[in-house]
Amino acid sequence: MSATDNPHQSGLTPPSTLSARGEFGLIESWHKRLRQRAGVRLGIGDDAAVLDHLQVPIVTCDCLIEKVHFRRDWTTPRALGRKAIAVNVSDVAAMGGHPVAAFISIAIGPHDDAPFLEQLYAGFEDMAARYNLTIAGGDTARSPAELMLSVTIVGAAPVPVLRSGAQVGDLLLVTGTLGDAAAGLALLQATPAQNAALGLTDDVRDYLLQRHHEPTPRLLEMQAALACSGAGLGNSAVLGAIPITAALDISDGLAGDAAHIAARSGVTLEIEVERLPITPFCREAATALGVDALDWALRGGEDYELLWCVAPAAAAGVMARVEQATGTPVTVIGRCREAEADAVTLLYPNGKRERAGRAFSHF
Ligand code: ADP
Ligand code: MG
Repeated sequence: MSATDNPHQSGLTPPSTLSARGEFGLIESWHKRLRQRAGVRLGIGDDAAVLDHLQVPIVTCDCLIEKVHFRRDWTTPRALGRKAIAVNVSDVAAMGGHPVAAFISIAIGPHDDAPFLEQLYAGFEDMAARYNLTIAGGDTARSPAELMLSVTIVGAAPVPVLRSGAQVGDLLLVTGTLGDAAAGLALLQATPAQNAALGLTDDVRDYLLQRHHEPTPRLLEMQAALACSGAGLGNSAVLGAIPITAALDISDGLAGDAAHIAARSGVTLEIEVERLPITPFCREAATALGVDALDWALRGGEDYELLWCVAPAAAAGVMARVEQATGTPVTVIGRCREAEADAVTLLYPNGKRERAGRAFSHF
């Protein structure tokens, strides 16, 4: 939409370095670094993109608001661009799909300049190349204050995997490790003096900060898991013989996200806390900061690991296949039980059982 069409236009003066290029000059310069890949017939440059026919189209969208989702002084624009695409690819992966095209709406604030935006787009393209998708369009506007991004990804799934298919008796599997991103965030929130006093090595810090800034969507892991098939796998005539009955990506913390599967599937998820995969780095940071690593693993956000419900007979095959194909460990962390009052229960080694707390909420 053009500014003159908008009766609510604020009348703010755009940043000078950007006004020299203009909206179309900016889009053109970003366009130059973007490549068109399979599944897209026409990308940036027309009123809308044209995609090829998609098997079962799946669409997801996430916004990133400065000072809510990211801070300019904590990240680089390139890492921010990579994360913006990664978190959407993670949703596509959780559905059992592969990404095809991304659409990026951006509201540019007075603090943004052309080099920042160029680096942001370099980050978008890094991830587009890695996950074989095309940045196929978007919209560009001005923001009176903070930078705002909204990324929409269109993908395709042969058989979408929903949150609703979990069966009583299914095992709960999780990819990778939990709590690292929350540990990274805690390091960012600590003052320089506090950080110095923690005595963590650069290896530990770099790993945890990397996990916070640059989550890895578990796309290859999901594809490897879905490639497992055979007799006795899957449970649903609709979904067919796929080994994963229900899945989601863990963006807001395991405990709260697990409750979404419980609610959609009509089961209770029981998590055995001592089984949660927590890295030594995460434990080290927790000890140094005097917090419980378990709390980060259960309630910290932004790990972007996948939670899968799998029939017991299929679990070993899925774990072996994913680990062999991707090197990512997969851990059994619990099971699905008949629905009880609590959507998610935590089981401790001493037999204690408790209700899991709530997930992160913006409100
Ligand atoms: P219209 O006014 O018809 O909506 P625009 O002038 O907004 O079109 O956009 C022109 C072209 O540039 C379109 O192909 C659009 O998808 C693309 N585009 C606009 N903004 C962005 C952006 N931030 N990132 C990627 N592509 C963009
Ligand atoms: Mg148009």
